[in-house]
Amino acid sequence: MIISVASGKGGTGKTTIATNLALSLDEPLVFLDCDVEEPNAHLFLQTDLGSPEVATTPVPQVDESKCTLCGKCGEICQFKAIIVIGETVLPFEELCHSCGGCMEVCPEKAISEKARELGVIEEGRRNGIRFVHGRLRIGEAMAPPLIKKVRAKAPVDGLTIIDAPPGTSCPVIAAMKGADFILLVTEPTPFGLHDLELAVGAVRVLGIPCGLIINRSDLGDRKVYDYAKKEDIPILMEIPFERRIAEAYSRGIPVVEAFPDWKERFVQLYRDIEDAAARKGVSA
Ligand code: SF4
Ligand code: SF4
Repeated sequence: MIISVASGKGGTGKTTIATNLALSLDEPLVFLDCDVEEPNAHLFLQTDLGSPEVATTPVPQVDESKCTLCGKCGEICQFKAIIVIGETVLPFEELCHSCGGCMEVCPEKAISEKARELGVIEEGRRNGIRFVHGRLRIGEAMAPPLIKKVRAKAPVDGLTIIDAPPGTSCPVIAAMKGADFILLVTEPTPFGLHDLELAVGAVRVLGIPCGLIINRSDLGDRKVYDYAKKEDIPILMEIPFERRIAEAYSRGIPVVEAFPDWKERFVQLYRDIEDAAARKGVSA
């Protein structure tokens, strides 16, 4: 079972939900922090991280002594990541999706691979939780390749909880694709509703069952609730604004450790996710 915790916008409490869910369960699990631009779940899980592993992706390099400037590499590249300009072939590494197409079509075998650094992957452990996160290299524009490498660290069976990046663009899709259930965290405000609608649109395209958690549920209005009803999205948990919870969060203390009575609520959340997923034909 892969549960991806996402939100249309940042600051909704997505990482709080993902980490507290992980800390509440007694079964072994893998936690993937795929918010590679700003990973912070390890602070809440209080995991020690091992030595960083450099993550790379292959990009083309051209041997100009073999190149005949035929242009076939540029014709096949859908991303305009390699082009012939005048008397030279120019690869744009930042645009390259590492598909290998240009290498395949080059009649002169003038293109070989070289490694481009994406960032690092770090792993840690806390009791039954195996933790993995990616940290994008400063200046790196594309997060999805690193997210895919973080996801590849999870085994195919067992429970995996993914903390997805905020938003609804390519990095979020990379963190949600292939999940069995998406937990969407939102807040009952006009901004929350707007971004929730975008997130639900993305989830529907992927065809993955989803449920909602409404954070700061006592602030704002009822429009998120009306939307959930209209779209037939189950509300699996509501968390009212409580000063003591916000204070624990600001000190990096997980809610279920500061207030043990919350542990049973997160265990129940997991059971509800299993039930909601089962109704959609997904088995844990
Ligand atoms: S396909 Fe090969 S030979 Fe043709 S332009 Fe590209 S690198 Fe040069
Ligand atoms: S590897 Fe693929 S994406 Fe990258 S330059 Fe070659 S054809 Fe384009």
